[in-house]
Amino acid sequence: MTARRVAIVGGGLTGLATAWHLRDDVEVEVFEAASRVGGQIHTIELAGEPLDVGADAFLARQPEAERLAREVGFGDDDMVAPATGQVWLWLRGRLRPLPAATVLGVPAQLRPLARSGALRPAELARAAVEPLLPRRQVPGDRSVADLVGERFGPAVVDRLVEPLLAGVYAGNAGSLSAQAAAPPVWSAAREHRSLLRGLAAHRERAVGDDRPVFKTLRGGLGTLTDRLADELGAQVRVGTAIRGLAHDGRRWRVRLDTGTEPFDAVVLAVPPAVAADLLASTLPEVARELAGIRSASVGVVALAYDPRDAQRVPPGSGILVPRSEGRLVKAVTVSSRKWPHQAAPDRFVLRASVGRVDDPGALSLDDDEVLERVDAEVRWALRLARPARERRLVRWPAALPQYDVGHHARLDRIRTHLETEAPAGLHLGGAAFDGVGLAARARDASRLAEEVRAVTVPGAAERGAPPAVRSPAPREH
Ligand SMILES: Cc1cc2nc3c(=O)[nH]c(=O)nc-3n(C[C@H](O)[C@H](O)[C@H](O)COP(=O)(O)OP(=O)(O)OC[C@H]3O[C@@H](n4cnc5c(N)ncnc54)[C@H](O)[C@@H]3O)c2cc1C
Repeated sequence: MTARRVAIVGGGLTGLATAWHLRDDVEVEVFEAASRVGGQIHTIELAGEPLDVGADAFLARQPEAERLAREVGFGDDDMVAPATGQVWLWLRGRLRPLPAATVLGVPAQLRPLARSGALRPAELARAAVEPLLPRRQVPGDRSVADLVGERFGPAVVDRLVEPLLAGVYAGNAGSLSAQAAAPPVWSAAREHRSLLRGLAAHRERAVGDDRPVFKTLRGGLGTLTDRLADELGAQVRVGTAIRGLAHDGRRWRVRLDTGTEPFDAVVLAVPPAVAADLLASTLPEVARELAGIRSASVGVVALAYDPRDAQRVPPGSGILVPRSEGRLVKAVTVSSRKWPHQAAPDRFVLRASVGRVDDPGALSLDDDEVLERVDAEVRWALRLARPARERRLVRWPAALPQYDVGHHARLDRIRTHLETEAPAGLHLGGAAFDGVGLAARARDASRLAEEVRAVTVPGAAERGAPPAVRSPAPREH
């Protein structure tokens, strides 16, 4: 086999896993601008133990992330499932349980909604008429707030849906696409007269599936990206930003600070704004579309308390805070309660997140002020007796891509431009396209590797690899 040279730009999970899949087939190099690999997976040490301050769990009911972890050698003993799934809503100054039987916060049953106390009586009465409302046509994409609000009323959006979406996208329900950001809700709205009944049917399909929804790795998710990088060895070049990309008619030319290197194929596994810059001169239309994908900047505050100060903390894995509460904190994961391996007699750790796409308020403050205010809000909500013993703020600028209304139409336009205008050997991946979660990232990496193999490995296409469909990936919805 002739070795073909492939550049992977971005050493987050997408880029590293793509390289790892390709390592025996082609000569692959991963370029990572930062001094460490992992991107939005980052494990730090807090109070002497590892704690994730980026992604802290992967969806375990989608197989790809767990499969990848097992393929690189992690076993049952390394994987941990949450000890509790109880989540609280911070509403009108007190904690109320997130109602059971919801899908992305949208009710699939009325009784648990009523019991939770999340809605006032008039708001509950408005939500309860949803099954009686006439069928509504959903011909094209809508915002999540429109779709859910017109069926259940605005309070369901404000108190239940937006806090959940804020947890995943740091987004705004008024601009997030139902089709791309809430596919089960969008499908239920199109296929059923009542959204509530459609979501009840959706939930029924999962009845009897008692597998944990999420899992994590005992040593932190950074152990996964570190292991991928260790296996790739010298093929990973950290502290090496790609500054430009061009095609000379035969090969791709990748520009580094130290010069330009030729490659047969290039995988871009970077945030959309970076990909837009890199493609600006070669594929201006694709660059323009990528630049139109907004990203939310967020921050994670990791806090360690004395366990003696945590005796009145209510049970449960975390808190979601609707934006209407006017707090800095958007969500809290009570790590010492959520994860069995984080429970310890000598420390009580949690992480709080701040920042929304349309509200840079929290992140415009300096570090000390964020730490002070977040610690105070968390202490008050969880009835912690004294300030944290240790606290760290990790900022994630422009981290979470927004699947705004029309996202899938944008991806279609990108795909068309790539198919008609791009020189061979260009592959786009990353969270801007088909899922921000780690399972989606692992799935994306497998697809990218197959695409690259199909164009770089002689005979791969004939051996059953897919044709060289240039990314982004075909959508599920
Ligand atoms: C705070 C936070 C919490 C999250 N929690 C979860 C969670 O619990 N579960 C979950 O499933 N998902 C979670 N996510 C989402 C998930 O972590 C990300 O979608 C995923 O890690 C993105 O992986 P990636 O490799 O596609 O991109 P990234 O991780 O963003 O990696 C891209 C890499 O490209 C590098 N780069 C940028 N420019 C250049 C350049 N010019 N040259 C070379 N390299 C460059 C960057 O330094 C970065 O390392 C969370 C995200 C954040 C920010």
